[in-house]
Amino acid sequence: MQKLDTVIIGGGAAGIAAAISARRRNRSVVICDRMPKIGKKILASGNGRCNLLNERLDESFYNPSGRPLVKSIFEKFGKEQILNLFQEIGLQTYSEDGRVFPRTNQSSSVVKVLEMELNRLSVPIELNFEVKGISRSQGMFTVTSKSGKSIECEKLIVAAGGRSYPALGSDGSCYRMIANLGHKIVDPVPAAVPIVLKEKLCHLLQGQKIAARVKAIVNQKTVCESEGDLLFTNYGLSGTAILDVSEDISVAINRQKINDVLVSVDMVPFMNRDTLKLEISRRIKDRWKTEDLLAGILPNKFHFVFEGKDMVCDPEKITNTVKSRIFKVVETKRWNEADFTAGGIDIKYVKQETLESTVVKGLYFAGEILDVCGKRGGYNLAWAWGSGFTAGRTL
Ligand SMILES: Cc1cc2nc3c(=O)[nH]c(=O)nc-3n(C[C@H](O)[C@H](O)[C@H](O)COP(=O)(O)OP(=O)(O)OC[C@H]3O[C@@H](n4cnc5c(N)ncnc54)[C@H](O)[C@@H]3O)c2cc1C
Repeated sequence: MQKLDTVIIGGGAAGIAAAISARRRNRSVVICDRMPKIGKKILASGNGRCNLLNERLDESFYNPSGRPLVKSIFEKFGKEQILNLFQEIGLQTYSEDGRVFPRTNQSSSVVKVLEMELNRLSVPIELNFEVKGISRSQGMFTVTSKSGKSIECEKLIVAAGGRSYPALGSDGSCYRMIANLGHKIVDPVPAAVPIVLKEKLCHLLQGQKIAARVKAIVNQKTVCESEGDLLFTNYGLSGTAILDVSEDISVAINRQKINDVLVSVDMVPFMNRDTLKLEISRRIKDRWKTEDLLAGILPNKFHFVFEGKDMVCDPEKITNTVKSRIFKVVETKRWNEADFTAGGIDIKYVKQETLESTVVKGLYFAGEILDVCGKRGGYNLAWAWGSGFTAGRTL
């Protein structure tokens, strides 16, 4: 059986960062990944551009339960250190509204410089190594693959990701093994995910994209808001405004099993209520046809918002329906359409300074496998780099 200082499960952003920092401290490490290639999710990130960081980086952009851990990690390895790391290994970057991208606008450049650094540091990589078992005896871990191969190590870093986009490698297969070692797993649910509604309007407007302000309302309480693109689809709603509020919706529906989940959509965020009402009143007074009442304000097809509604000559009702149209959320889309995972290893089981388990000595965690979920805009990769580098450095 092969014996090493450290095994890293997962060759994603967190596992790669952990391997680089551990190897720079002369630890002998190996990355084990179930896929035939490492860094698949990095390649898919940011629509192929890889939004690798955000310049406004602090814990407020993460789920409340994850914040203490995020704060502690970014104090040691935050924005400056992440940018330095990439500069050192040769990646030129630029920022757009605070979001940091590779100069080439190609995520493959990010993977390339990381692979070159792993190569320079002679980090071995075991591909197609699907970890099926983790055991511990006499202070050593044994990591066993599906095909029966075993590696023994003193320290183990689990950076196996969440459950989103299983085709890119992270299928949640390590949660059970970590739970069996005595850790609590906060029920993982899809985040940054489209929502499903039973609404004829979505069907009628499918393919239409507008700028909108969206509120998520759970048990009659607004839990979060966002402004951005709203895309009508044949099953419901998507677009950046929806993806931004989807974590709270998903937690409510999929984890807390709450039924009363609504979204309120302001389809005309660029006009206040009074101005819009005045304009609609003028159009009604001037005898505009019903189907034209929203012409020039919203795309032409939006006369469908009047479908089945008795409001045609009432400016107040029209304003209400356009400024705060309520939709009942039936469910969210599943893992194949969720960019992030909300939930994972409970951070109470992790030491804030080192990311070592509080119950198993020598076991460390990094990246999306932990119950840390950031906003869109580079926050999840930032967490993966920061936590990965910290776990590898503090072994
Ligand atoms: C389409 C998409 C776009 C995104 N865009 C952005 C973006 O632009 N900016 C941003 O900040 N975030 C983005 N994210 C989120 C971000 O990519 C992830 O949060 C981040 O990559 C997680 O890194 P990780 O190393 O923790 O996990 P992963 O990248 O998921 O890596 C985990 C690795 O572990 C391996 N693994 C899992 N189980 C096992 C096992 N049992 N045995 C062996 N290996 C195993 C997997 O094969 C995988 O390679 C995006 C996500 C998606 C899906």
